[in-house]
Amino acid sequence: MSSSRISAAGLNSAHTRTLRTPEELVNAGFVTHGTMPAIGEVAEKYATAIPPAFADLIETPDDPIGLQVIPSPDELVVAPHELADPIGDDALSPVPGIVHRYADRALLKPLLICPLYCRFCFRREHVGPDGGLLDEEALAVAFQWLRENSAIREVILTGGDPLMLSSRRLEHIIRELASIPHVTTLRIHSRVPLAAPEKITDALLDAMDADKAVWMVVHANHAREFSAAGREALRKIQRRGIPVLGQSVLLRGVNNNEAALEDLFRAMVESRMKPYYLHQLDPAPGTARFHVPIEEGRRLLAGLRGRVTGLAWPTYVLDIPGGYGKVPLGPDYVEPSLSAVSDPNGQRHAIRTPNSQ
Ligand SMILES: *Cc1c(COP(=O)(O)O)cnc(C)c1O
Ligand code: SF4
Repeated sequence: MSSSRISAAGLNSAHTRTLRTPEELVNAGFVTHGTMPAIGEVAEKYATAIPPAFADLIETPDDPIGLQVIPSPDELVVAPHELADPIGDDALSPVPGIVHRYADRALLKPLLICPLYCRFCFRREHVGPDGGLLDEEALAVAFQWLRENSAIREVILTGGDPLMLSSRRLEHIIRELASIPHVTTLRIHSRVPLAAPEKITDALLDAMDADKAVWMVVHANHAREFSAAGREALRKIQRRGIPVLGQSVLLRGVNNNEAALEDLFRAMVESRMKPYYLHQLDPAPGTARFHVPIEEGRRLLAGLRGRVTGLAWPTYVLDIPGGYGKVPLGPDYVEPSLSAVSDPNGQRHAIRTPNSQ
C-alpha cells in the first residue's frame, strides 16, 4: 500500500467521489493495510465521509486536514472522562429534533447527516448517513412546539448539517420557521460551504431567503480549508445578505499552535467571516487524542491578543458537560479583586474609577 499512500500524500490527486468505506480509505492511501482490522471496527461504530473537495486538501493522512476526517484505531479507546452525550442534548429535548437549553433560542436538528464526519464530533454517537431525518410528521410537531413557545426568538438549525438537506426540504423548513411571529432570527450551523462547496447551489441559496434575519455559522478548523471554491461559496452566501460567522474546535495536531490559529482566524476575516467561538473539545467517546488542556488554549489566545486584529478574536468556550450551557474560558485580564488588569504584554495596571484615588 505504500505506493498509493505516496501518491495520495504527494500529488494531491483529484478525488471524484466521497470516500466512506475502509477499503476506499486504503485505496486513497489514507489508511494503511496494517491498521485495517481496527479501522473496520471503528467503521462499525462511527460514520466516515470525506467529500472530494476535502480529500483534495489532504497532503498526508496525519496533516491538519487528514486528522479531522480519517478514522483512527484510537477511536476505539473510550477514556473514563468521556460521555456518549457530552453536552446533554438528549435530556433537553422536549420533542424529537428540538433541543431547548436557553430561554430565547432553541436548536432544530432536521437531520443527522453531515458532508464529512469529524473524528472529534460531539454528536458522534448520533450522526451518520442513514440517521435522523425528521419526517413530515415529526417536523410538524417540532414547528408546533416552536409556535407554542413564544419566548423563542431564534431557531438554530443544526444536526447533522442542515445544508445537506435538499433545497426543497430546506426551503419548507425556512418558510415554516419564518412564518412564526415571535421567531425573528434563524441561524444555520454548517460545515458544507468549505467542506463541500459544490453543494451551495442557487437553489439552496434561494431556499435560505427569508424575511427574517438569517445568520450562518460555518465550522472550520484550519486555514487550508479555505480553498478557492470554498471562499467562493462563502461569497455567494454573503451576497444573499447572510452574515457569516466562524466556529472552530481547538484540536491537538490540527490547530493547537499560535501560527495555525492566527492563520485560521485571519483566513476567516479575509473571507468576511467573524470568528465567533473557539470550542474546547467536548469529551465525546474516543476523542482524547485531540484534547488540548484549557491552560494551553488560554496561552494560545493570549498570544494573539494585541498582535492580531480584534476582528480575528473568537470567544473561547466550554460547553459544560451535562447540558449546563456554554461559558467563556478566558484568558482573563482582570484580577479577581476587579481593581487591576493585565495588558497584552502581561504588565499590571490599576483600574481607575471615581473611588480609586
Ligand atoms: C450552543 C447552543 C446554543 C447556541 O448558543 P449561543 O451561545 O447562542 O451560540 C443554543 N442552544 C443549545 C442547546 C446549544 O447547545
Ligand atoms: S460537522 Fe458538526 S455535527 Fe457533523 S460530524 Fe462534524 S462536528 Fe459533528
